[in-house]
Amino acid sequence: MRPARLRIDLAALQHNYRLLRQMHGARALAVVKANAYGHGAVQCAQALAPIADGFAVAFVEEALVLREAGIAAPILVLEGAFDGEDWRAAHAHKLWLVVHQESQLRALEEQTFAQPLPVWLKCNTGMNRVGFNADAIARAHQRLKACAQVSDITLMTHLARADEPQESATSEQITLFDHATHALEGARSLANSAGILAHPAARRDWARPGIALYGSNPLPSADVDLRPVMTLESRVFAVRELAAGAPLGYGARFHAPHPMRIGLVAAGYADGYPRSAPDGTLVAVDGRPARLVGRVAMDMLTIDLTDLPEAGIGSRVELWGKQIPVDSIARAVGTISYELLCNAKRAQCIFENGT
Ligand SMILES: *Cc1c(COP(=O)(O)O)cnc(C)c1O
Repeated sequence: MRPARLRIDLAALQHNYRLLRQMHGARALAVVKANAYGHGAVQCAQALAPIADGFAVAFVEEALVLREAGIAAPILVLEGAFDGEDWRAAHAHKLWLVVHQESQLRALEEQTFAQPLPVWLKCNTGMNRVGFNADAIARAHQRLKACAQVSDITLMTHLARADEPQESATSEQITLFDHATHALEGARSLANSAGILAHPAARRDWARPGIALYGSNPLPSADVDLRPVMTLESRVFAVRELAAGAPLGYGARFHAPHPMRIGLVAAGYADGYPRSAPDGTLVAVDGRPARLVGRVAMDMLTIDLTDLPEAGIGSRVELWGKQIPVDSIARAVGTISYELLCNAKRAQCIFENGT
């Protein structure tokens, strides 16, 4: 059996949730959109169900997967309804939907529900993608209050630069939000992971942590005990000696500068390891550091074992996880941990409860 594995440490996930909820205070929706950032939405939601106040996903279909798996807690749908059918599904399955634009408001007003639903009203305070502008939020709130389909309104906004604490953008967003909503009834929600970690002024009734739940810190400087949840690992399945000057792999990107011993690892970009990883990217072989050499292929990648004579076929190779932070790989390839985690796939998933 091919040895590529995605190990998901559900105890680390629970630890991270507790820590973030405690830091923020009040309640926290665990953001499990995009299959829980690649970690398995159902398994993650089931592990968090006993301790989480609720969950958040991007769209209604993601919420229905959780309901079908027996998740009974509140589920907030961050993108809200795309059509009237989404509103009817929200009613049937007791979902909380974000209302961020006029067309969603109108579609809601056209529904007739047996039971009114809680909704979240989104204010645009500087991200400038979705959300009612500050000068339109009171009117939208008034229409929701007047709407028979609505039981309760929570006010929210989303921070564009919370991971850059030296920038004034976040405090400007918070000030604008408070100013625009001060006269409006309802609970408040501002903070994503970076908001929780870096902006005490963003702490309100509900937090919405995503990436930090999975152990990746959007602010490398912040010293908090977040534990990595996902480990992407595989094993050496073949070993090859290279003569000095010999090329290695597609495009002969790497040439051996001296005689080398190369390990072939059963994981590639189809498993989610980035093809753009440069020569020298760190891996851990049975706990010891080694380096990627040559281009990452679809199903395999190559590492330098010259200085690890005891390593060979069967040696365990961590590509990211507890020894190799996913953030360091993300930095090496010019992206963010979110993208790498979301792309992790194909490797066999193993859910663990701590080690
Ligand atoms: C994805 C998302 C979050 C979670 O963001 P992280 O940076 O992963 O913590 C919170 N709020 C909204 C509206 C989102 O779309």
